Amino acid sequence: MNETPEDNALTILERLREGGLWQPAGLGLSYIRTGEKSISLITQENNPTSAQARIRMRLLIEGVGWQVDESEAQLTDVQHLSPQQQHMQEMMMRQEMAQNWKCNCGTPLSAFPLEKARWNFDGQEEMILPTGEKELVEQWSVITQCPVCETIVPLEPYDYGLLAGDDAMTTYSFRTSIPESRQPSIGHIEKEYTLTALSRPEIIAFMDMNNGDADGDAPDMFVTGTFYNGHMLPPHVRGAVVSVTEWQIATGEEE
Ligand SMILES: [Zn+2]
Repeated sequence: MNETPEDNALTILERLREGGLWQPAGLGLSYIRTGEKSISLITQENNPTSAQARIRMRLLIEGVGWQVDESEAQLTDVQHLSPQQQHMQEMMMRQEMAQNWKCNCGTPLSAFPLEKARWNFDGQEEMILPTGEKELVEQWSVITQCPVCETIVPLEPYDYGLLAGDDAMTTYSFRTSIPESRQPSIGHIEKEYTLTALSRPEIIAFMDMNNGDADGDAPDMFVTGTFYNGHMLPPHVRGAVVSVTEWQIATGEEE
């Protein structure tokens, strides 16, 4: 089964969150989603390629039953930026957009207690690679809660990273219960762990605290795989050198 450009466009449009940014690769066009089946062109690069692409995109988008508002579109001069500068500029634009995302009650998502968000594994989905091969890809969402109306808002991991910033992506907290069989003297206990990714200088400082002595007093350092104490870690936490802090949570106590 071959996907048509219409299928592709529709998939992208439907996945775009309201207020989300869509920049089709290489066209110099930026759209944001403004409603259930509507998007708005916000910028077009000031050159013939982008001008033509704008017309083609309009036909394509309207062809799948969506509305395009071009009345607010601004022409931008093409800047000769290095790929790094371009990437930085795009990231800043995306972050700015993310500040405008809102809960149904009007509370900005950026005002949510994002550091308390929980990562949730939603199972695996079959994806078709450009080569035609199929691959199982893990699906994750980040569960946040509106502090005003208490609505649960699941976010795409990428969107969560934009909103919460780098710090939120370098620490990861979770709870796990340790079965009674492994702790016969204590009974059922729950523990909360925080894994914090260490930078290279931090790893060196950690190791130097022990002067190469494996039984030294340095805090716990750990290299992550897929699981930690039986808990499946989200992909961005795997394959990292982390410091581990843990708290024991009293039995029977709920959050
Ligand atoms: Zn709300």
